[in-house]
Formats: sequence, structure tokens, C-alpha cells
Amino acid sequence: MAQLTDDCFAFSGPLLPIDEVERILRERVMPVAEIETVPLALAYGRVMARDISAPIDLPPFDNSAVDGYAVRAADLDRKAETRLAVTERVTAGRAPTRTLAPGAAVRIFTGAPMPGGADTVFMQEDVRREGEAVLVPPGLEAGANRRLAGEDVRAGAVVLPAGRRLHAQHVALAAAVGLTQLPVRRRIRVAVLSTGDEIVEPGTSRPGAALFDANRFLLAGLLVGLGAQSTDLGIVPDDPQLLARAIAAAAQEHDLVLTSGGVSTGEADHVRSAVESIGRLVFWRVAVKPGRPVAMGVIRGARPEASAAFVGLPGNPVAVFVTFARVVRPLLARLAGAEATPLIALPVRATFAHRKKKGRREYVRVALRRGPDGVIEAVRHAQEGAGIITSLTETDGLVELLEDTTKIEPGASVGFLSYAALVG
Ligand code: AMP
Ligand code: MG
Repeated sequence: MAQLTDDCFAFSGPLLPIDEVERILRERVMPVAEIETVPLALAYGRVMARDISAPIDLPPFDNSAVDGYAVRAADLDRKAETRLAVTERVTAGRAPTRTLAPGAAVRIFTGAPMPGGADTVFMQEDVRREGEAVLVPPGLEAGANRRLAGEDVRAGAVVLPAGRRLHAQHVALAAAVGLTQLPVRRRIRVAVLSTGDEIVEPGTSRPGAALFDANRFLLAGLLVGLGAQSTDLGIVPDDPQLLARAIAAAAQEHDLVLTSGGVSTGEADHVRSAVESIGRLVFWRVAVKPGRPVAMGVIRGARPEASAAFVGLPGNPVAVFVTFARVVRPLLARLAGAEATPLIALPVRATFAHRKKKGRREYVRVALRRGPDGVIEAVRHAQEGAGIITSLTETDGLVELLEDTTKIEPGASVGFLSYAALVG
């Protein structure tokens, strides 16, 4: 099922840098092979399996960009008003009946085809009408307000390349060139479970020492946003046998098994040993805060091609969010055959001081505001704990502090990643 090669690439060092995680995913994970053809209405969020070219020019014909008068630039007086006879009226969807004669103009509307011979359009608010004539001012550039056939897309050009994840605008482009269906890779199948003796389902009775499960709902939503298909496997107790059984069963029918909780080194953390009993760990500690314990591995299938990828995320919801963005998202993109879209942090001004350890990447939850001088400022959330879910709901994104950074002072320029950019 999963396309993760099972070579020996286990990482034995203490903390794996994010860049190394990305390199491993790039080099070792192969996209799913199956391709299907879907109608445009079902193409949102899917990933193009092949390059697709435009069958026609876009726009398909020269047309007017404004409501006004189409003229021949050669007829115009450069210094004074020019009087032209209005000989035809062309609205959008109608074809002009004749070529524009010298000294004439055509009343034209936005999107209507340019009559032969006409090359320039005056906006209606810039001209004067006098009966059957129109008086146009000097100074308009030849070719103004005209849209040329093929200026958007040339027939034959690749409009949707293999690997492109289809957002609304991409599907709109496919429709505009007349396509009705697109070849896409099949959706990635992900099984999601939560682990922890203290975790109970919302809506069930909650013992005094229990928490309602937040992570499965966080992960299911993040997966929907990335176009993956998720299966909810519920909550599994802190028991290595039950965990191994649930993960192994899920691996038979999914490309990726995703868990949260139970992945660090406590006595009740059994995810790693469960994975080692049914597959192999690739790495289990990543140099990222929040989130450090993140296990990635391969679960053996009945056949080599039926093995599945595994990612065990930490239990704290904020750590789940950050590690999903930095580990699961690129993994899903590789499995789905989607082009790698680099995350580009935008510069904002920190309003806070921060100390950090060298050698790991840190993410600070911040809200944005405009400072007194107009510069965008990042304000750190008042509560920094990795279990504080409101620190995700009351902020706009994460400030990314790279491995080499050890301190930030107020006023420093820092890189900001919006939640939309991180998990969109
Ligand atoms: P663990 O990694 O299992 O030690 O969990 C770390 C913290 O995250 C603990 O406080 C857990 O109670 C909490 N946690 C684990 N799983 C979930 C979950 N599904 N929803 C909300 N909190 C969780
Ligand atoms: Mg636990």
C-alpha cells in the first residue's frame, strides 16, 4: 500500500533536524501509482497525475476589455479629437458582421469579439457621442483595452503540470480551456487513532482523570484540508499488544497510519515498541519544539508493496499540530505525488523576547497586529504550554526560529508562517 522503501535508513543520532526529515521523505517515499480520471466537480484537492495541455487559446479570440468604442489606431489624430462614424454595435456573445472600415468605430462591450481591422478600444466614459458619430480624444496608445487571443494561455501549453494540487483556481482554468475531467492520482488513505488510557470520546461519560479526545478531530480536519481520505480508528489504550494489533490491521488497507500520544519514553508510552514488533522505526526524535518525540516508520505488509508508512505524533495537541505541519504534510505530499511547495516564512517584527537551545527548530504561536508605524508585529500567545489548545485558536500562525538562533529580542525581524500556509 504505502510506497515507503524499506531500506536501512534508520536514524540513530539523538535528534533528527527537520531538513533531514524532509530529505528522507524526498528520497525514500514514492507516490502512489494508481491514476483515476475525475470530473472537474470532484477534482478539488486532488493531485494531477500527468501534464495537461490547453486544447484552445485563452481567450479564444481577440476581445474588448471594456465597454466603449473599437477603432483603428491608424485613423486617430495624435493631437486633436477624431470624429468617427459608429457603424455597428457588438455585445458579448455576438460576432461582428463586418470588418471595421477606415474612419469608422464600433460600439463594443466587455468580452465582445474585436471586429476585424479594429485594434484599440476607447472606454465609453472617455468619449463624446454626437448622433451617429463618436468623438475620441488624442493620446490613447494603440492596442489599449484590447485582450489578445491566447494572451492568457496558448493552445498546446501545459496548463496543469503533473504534481499540481488542484485548488479552485486550477479547476477554473481547466474549465476555461474546455476540459471536463482530469487525470489525478488516487487519494491517500490514512488511518488515525489516539492512544492513552486517559483519553475518552467526546459525548461519553468522562471519569475524573480523563480527557476528551481532541487529537483525532484535529488530525481528521487537517487531513481533509490536504485532500487525504481518513479512517477513524478511535481510541486505543496504553497497551503494546492492542496498539500493535490496531496499527498492523490498519496498515493492510492504508498508505499511512497516524497515531497521537504514547510516543515518548515514559513507562506508559508503547507506540515505539508496538511499531518495532510489526515493522521498523526510521526515526523517533526530531529536533523541533514543540513536538520532539515523533516516530516515523514502516509497517510490514503481507507483501512488500503492501507495507504502510507510520507516523506516531506526540500527545499534546499543539505538538500534534506542529509535527503534522512539519512531518506529516510533506510525507502526504510525497505519497500523493504532489509538488513540494516550499514554506516561505514572511518577515514580521517580534514584540517578545525568546531564548532557545541551539540545534533545534522552534515554533512560537503568535497573533499578528499592525504596529504604530504600520509594520506587522507578531505577539506571542500568553500561554506557551504544548497542551494549551486555545493557543492555537487565538493566534494566526507560527513564528519559526531556525536551528542556529539562540535568542530573539523585541523588535527583531522573525519569519512568520500562517496556519493557512502551514497546513493548507
Ligand atoms: P503522551 O505523549 O501520551 O504522554 O501525551 C502527552 C499529553 O497529551 C498528555 O497530557 C495527554 O493527556 C495529552 N493527550 C494525549 N492524547 C491526547 C488526545 N487525543 N487529545 C487530547 N490530549 C491528548
Ligand atoms: Mg499517553
